[in-house]
Amino acid sequence: MQLIFSFDTEEYETPGIDDTIKIWANMLAKYGCRGAFCIVGEKARVLLERGRKDIIDTLAAHEIDFHSNWHSRHPLHAEYLDELGWDDGVQRVVAEESPGIQDVEKILGQRPIAYCKPGGSWGPQVAEGMVLMGLPVFCDAPFEFAPGKPMWYCNQLFIGYHTSFDRYFEVENRLAQMKADFRQLCDRIGDGTIVMYTHPVRLFTRKFADNFRYGRNTPRSEWVPAPMRTRSQIDALIRDFDAFVKYVVGEGIEVIDYQQLYQQYKEAPIWMDGKNLIQLAEQIQQELSYQIIDDVAYSPAEIFGLTVFALDWHRRTGKLPEVTPIRRLIGPTQTLKFDESEAAINVGVLMDSIGEINAKLTESHRVPSSIVIENRAIAPGTFLKAAAQILGAIETHAIPPTQVSLDPDWQLPTIVQRSDFAGMNFNWSMFYPGFEGKHVIEMAKLQAWTAKPALKTG
Ligand SMILES: [Zn+2]
Repeated sequence: MQLIFSFDTEEYETPGIDDTIKIWANMLAKYGCRGAFCIVGEKARVLLERGRKDIIDTLAAHEIDFHSNWHSRHPLHAEYLDELGWDDGVQRVVAEESPGIQDVEKILGQRPIAYCKPGGSWGPQVAEGMVLMGLPVFCDAPFEFAPGKPMWYCNQLFIGYHTSFDRYFEVENRLAQMKADFRQLCDRIGDGTIVMYTHPVRLFTRKFADNFRYGRNTPRSEWVPAPMRTRSQIDALIRDFDAFVKYVVGEGIEVIDYQQLYQQYKEAPIWMDGKNLIQLAEQIQQELSYQIIDDVAYSPAEIFGLTVFALDWHRRTGKLPEVTPIRRLIGPTQTLKFDESEAAINVGVLMDSIGEINAKLTESHRVPSSIVIENRAIAPGTFLKAAAQILGAIETHAIPPTQVSLDPDWQLPTIVQRSDFAGMNFNWSMFYPGFEGKHVIEMAKLQAWTAKPALKTG
């Protein structure tokens, strides 16, 4: 069992609350713990403007992560991504977030490793954008593999939040309750990683500031600061939280940061050998889902790349490759409609197209949204099952069959049936009234092609 203390460090509207960061940073340091401070770009800028070099210096003992450039200011990520496609969406994320990452790095002196989404706003293009900008971890992720067990999604390590200090602000008998709940959570998560978060600002404020709710963009000159707690309330919170951190450390719980988490799961560049490739082709024909072989997990998108590469190799050389490179492809980026009237395809015709399909994978870095063979569009899942059948037949009979069946039910990876994918929604109170984010949800489901459990490598 490992524990990450994660700090959503965001509030830039209320003056006089910056000391909360220092209180938390010093509290953890006192017990030898390194916290993960996810800093909003504008928060870093106001710390500098307010001359808080003391806070910046205190944070040097902790990990610095990123919590978006402007947090709740509109349009939120999901709000603008709902109007965009894949590539323009990723471009917008990079354009809007890169100045924030730069400022956090420049002001705090560390390159962030994890990205924490603001409230309930995200989109799969945010994950891709963060990977492009060198942030390999997504915390407070919309899904993880299992409680406390991270997942790869869009080639980023996704881990959720599991508990918080915030839920105990108003609880009577606070410390005893925190300890009891924590022991229960440890039992439930077992050999996993618990992430416990808080908003440092809430140590001093009774509520969040409210300048961006329901799509409002209150001008800076009209920002209303958050209401403050009394000194005795603040002292009681600090006393109990300090005692809780001391308790956790005393119990021998290993406190880590996101960098350490990432090092445990980071995937080395690997090649797949021929034997495992055939095994993978057998497995993927059973279910359009991630597959695990020899303690390595492969996403459906990676399996698509491996299968197409091997078939193209066979077309050119008459043999299957001894090793196949694993390309970290993303999923299809458009939902298309397919004519499902024909139930089979001629293998010779399919193989004539395989070189072009393979080249396109490397060029576009993604599973195609449709595979067009002789003017006929085939869904990528349907195509993958057919390709895997051909690969299996080549291995068994040395020559490809003449025809292969097409399964029209293979549209999206089966993980989309899980309740977290199936019930995905955008109901954070910051969104414009009536915002549903349907297009973002559709994009997020397409990227289920990239979903697979994160397995320990280190
Ligand atoms: Zn936040």
